Amino acid sequence: MKAAFITGHGGNEVVQVGAHRLPERAPGEVRVRVQAATLNQVDLYMRNSGAGITHRLPQILGLDAAGVVEACDAADPLLRPGQEVVIHPGVGCGRCEFCQRGDSALCTRIQFLGEHRDGTFAQWIQVPAAQVFPKPPHLGWAQAAALGVNHLTAWRMLFSKARLQPWETVLVFGIGGGVSLAALQLAKAIGARVLVTSREDTKLERARALGADQGINGKTQDVVKEVMALTDGRGVDVVFENVGAAVWSTTLKSLVRGGRLVTCGATTGDQPGADLRRLFVRQLQIFGSSLGSLGEFHALLGFVERTGLRPVIDSEFPLEEVHAALERLESGAQFGKVALHIGGH
Ligand SMILES: [Zn+2]
Repeated sequence: MKAAFITGHGGNEVVQVGAHRLPERAPGEVRVRVQAATLNQVDLYMRNSGAGITHRLPQILGLDAAGVVEACDAADPLLRPGQEVVIHPGVGCGRCEFCQRGDSALCTRIQFLGEHRDGTFAQWIQVPAAQVFPKPPHLGWAQAAALGVNHLTAWRMLFSKARLQPWETVLVFGIGGGVSLAALQLAKAIGARVLVTSREDTKLERARALGADQGINGKTQDVVKEVMALTDGRGVDVVFENVGAAVWSTTLKSLVRGGRLVTCGATTGDQPGADLRRLFVRQLQIFGSSLGSLGEFHALLGFVERTGLRPVIDSEFPLEEVHAALERLESGAQFGKVALHIGGH
């Protein structure tokens, strides 16, 4: 089959598109003909170094995907060939205490597609049947694929961790990235007030068109001052961020007393000052979060179908142009997801 895989670590020169072995389908697994996948920051990380992630070369990249069931166990109670599906990218062990209590996102032996096992930038992929869910019918292939990492991550952060309520205000940092846009969409869909930041006015404009209540330019404006002006000096209930050190102090100062900060990344550094006095005097709560469980994915898909939410796609490339797609992601210029059209035949 045709796939995009890394043969080493470095720049795009280690990413090849070519023939890759398709293993036999094992009992309990589903073979999915991939129609679309989207790029995530971790694809760049795997290409650049992959340090700390146990993998073997050549490693097929790609975490999320949407496609069509091609083969499954004849006795599978839920799946049948021809069914349109989306894939949850984290394969839990099913045995550890976290899997047993239903939170596979905490699994100690979790294997991610495109990191620890074959990824989705391929014509076919095989995953345990539990990873496969019906595709929301109103979504295109790339839109559906985008749910598996970005919207799942944002869902767990906003609703399982920070427990955002419809009458509350959330501040989303760095709008334009996939997870931040997912947070904007999900928070607006429950009726919450959403403030967003970006260092580019054009991204703030586009976020407003998607429903953001106010935009703050992090380059030309004082974010804390603007947040206070927009909340009558109170601060926001929830801060949603994955920027890390560069904005950490700002995030804490933007919160109301008792407010909640939820983070899933540290692209600008992971060792900011802790500001412990502010933390305990103002009784703030900080949550770390990563991806989401099978149960959260089930809930997200139901929510997306009910609300008609559509992930934002920045651009779509054929599998053969994975280099251009990776460059687009690396540029930081994108607004929404960079997708690969695969359409295995
Ligand atoms: Zn486990």
